[in-house]
Amino acid sequence: MFNKILIANRGEIACRIIKTAKKMGIKTVAVYSDTDVDALHVKMADEAVHIGAAPANQSYIVIDKILSAVKKSKADAVHPGYGFLSENKMFAEALERENIVFIGPPSGAIETMGDKITSKKLAKKAGVSTVPGYLGLIEDEEAAVKISNKIGYPVMIKASAGGGGKGMRVAWNDQEAQQGFKSSKNEATNSFGDDRIFIEKYVTKPRHIEIQILADKHGKTIYLNERECSIQRRNQKVIEEAPSPFLDDKTREEMGKQSCALAKAVSYTSAGTVEFIVDENRNFYFLEMNTRLQVEHPVTELITGIDIVENMIRIAWGEKLSISQKDVHINGWAIESRIYAEDPFRNFLPSIGRITRYRPPDERFDQALIVRNDTGVFEGSEISIHYDPMIAKLCSWAKSRTEALRVMSDSLDEFELDGIGHNIPFLSSVMRNKKFIKGDITTAFIEEEFPDGFKSVKLDSSLLKSIAAACSAMYRLFEIRRTRITGRMDNHTRVVENDWVVSLGGHNFDINLKADKTGSMVKFLDKSTVRVESNWVPGDSIAKVKIEDKILIMKVNKVTGGFRVRLLGSDLDVLIRNKRQFELSSHMLRKIEPDMTKFLVCPMPGMLIKVDVSEGEEVQEGQTLCVVEAMKMENVLRADKKGVIKKINVEAGQSLAVDEVIIEFE
Ligand code: ADP
Ligand code: ADP
Ligand code: MG
Repeated sequence: MFNKILIANRGEIACRIIKTAKKMGIKTVAVYSDTDVDALHVKMADEAVHIGAAPANQSYIVIDKILSAVKKSKADAVHPGYGFLSENKMFAEALERENIVFIGPPSGAIETMGDKITSKKLAKKAGVSTVPGYLGLIEDEEAAVKISNKIGYPVMIKASAGGGGKGMRVAWNDQEAQQGFKSSKNEATNSFGDDRIFIEKYVTKPRHIEIQILADKHGKTIYLNERECSIQRRNQKVIEEAPSPFLDDKTREEMGKQSCALAKAVSYTSAGTVEFIVDENRNFYFLEMNTRLQVEHPVTELITGIDIVENMIRIAWGEKLSISQKDVHINGWAIESRIYAEDPFRNFLPSIGRITRYRPPDERFDQALIVRNDTGVFEGSEISIHYDPMIAKLCSWAKSRTEALRVMSDSLDEFELDGIGHNIPFLSSVMRNKKFIKGDITTAFIEEEFPDGFKSVKLDSSLLKSIAAACSAMYRLFEIRRTRITGRMDNHTRVVENDWVVSLGGHNFDINLKADKTGSMVKFLDKSTVRVESNWVPGDSIAKVKIEDKILIMKVNKVTGGFRVRLLGSDLDVLIRNKRQFELSSHMLRKIEPDMTKFLVCPMPGMLIKVDVSEGEEVQEGQTLCVVEAMKMENVLRADKKGVIKKINVEAGQSLAVDEVIIEFE
């Protein structure tokens, strides 16, 4: 077996690979850029080599720098993870030339599969079902329109060299086909330096379902079943699960067999993923093959019990696969939530900064329940603009889908993450979505279920009532502690009150508390009562509270006059006052917030790519104002409402600080 491997990556995936290497007794080498000196993957590896400045094009994707790190550390092999150099044919070739093993497929397979036209032609030849379309050269817009008509609208216009959702357009008529062809071609030239375009049928409301395969160097290829990845935002996967709630055994087997046939046709070895879109009648069509370890591989590991990274390493060393197709089973159900530093309350804009609090739920590997958290950060880590904004991949596994969903929902509620904006509230709200719970999903799920973006989930009044009961009992504990520790002269006259008005989510609950040794009886104005029990003590940031026979898990922050509470995708300010304070408060003036509606401020540090409006122009609600790049993503900033542009303060190409004013309105 290899003595030492270098991991040409960072973040959670570098940590994930190091874990398996350690388990196998292999030494590990990390590489790091200037900003990653203290990163988790560097701490976990046996050795680490500095490779350059923070931007990836000065460190993680510079082939020569990785090569010299390999030589310096005398590693025998390189695992590329995903992203960065993982699908770079030149990198695989460079390693081959130096006699260093690339823990991935042969460079020829990377090249063939990296091109959508070539790979589709090959797939067709191998008997794989592909999306109906035209794979020849398309001369101009006129030809594009002709071909689109032949295929039948809607069509998808795609760049052959495309990836990451770039260079793709949907067209529903001649005019859109004409325009789509032009803009796809432009985007393809600019992003990939390759303007070849093809057109295929656009499958409406499909599911994205993919097959994980493993192939050794001795001719054995197997498939590890499917992953359902339909929950996507802007063609980026957000939640994945295995198995798919949609496939039947026959379709699964057919997709598996075709995936293996495709792998064989390119002499594939290592782990790989064949992506399909599946229509509502379970017709499936090949999209592309990803020739690398996939972000969402853990859900497959959880239902099959197979360590995919270990198999990649063994295959690269030359071992035969020790498992056969008949040994691959589906055991239970697994779900993955990608926790991104993206603020759902601010239109999912990337958020950066220091993680001031990081307390994920405890990992558990029990017989009936698994909680797994793959991460590359720790409390105090910095999320920078240079890399993608994934913080962690939280996975749950249980015997049934319902149970796995419940474990995920609870684990999200227990996940403490502060200092940066993150999408945990959004993930929680998906877990509570009726269609998602039924497994009734397509790639249009997020657009359809969250048409106006994400707003804090509105909880129903009975749930608010329970939260009010819990918070009043918790507040009482604070009050007791306060009277004990102040040592104030009036201590003997202070008694902790039992009557409160708890305000949250637009409701005011009149509450009377009767505490005993094990909890409190909470009585509401309408005479209904509930029993509240908890081990919570003031200072704990997570409260597990039993209310009658239900458990609520809440993140609580003590603030003046009450708590800030987060649970189930909702973010609540809970104000707790006694009757007199409550009555007085209705006479007080409301604090006036500064009026920022006349400014477009930059929501995160980044670079201004372009401005789409000019001074004096009238803009409509939702109209694109400008594009800011941060964390590998282009973020479109739109007008909140109708208005007139008074002044534009910055120019394209300029870097921006957070809250910097980009545009002023009349
Ligand atoms: P996979 O194909 O493995 O399921 P994705 O398609 O989601 O993963 O991501 C492909 C690549 O894009 C990965 O290498 C990852 O580093 C990068 N990526 C994923 N999410 C984001 C994001 N939100 N912003 C920028 N890059 C991302
Ligand atoms: P990329 O290389 O950018 O990942 P893919 O070809 O894998 O490009 O497509 C990305 C996503 O776009 C898919 O997951 C799917 O949601 C959607 N998509 C791609 N092709 C089609 C199509 N013909 N019809 C409908 N949706 C499609
Ligand atoms: Mg894809």
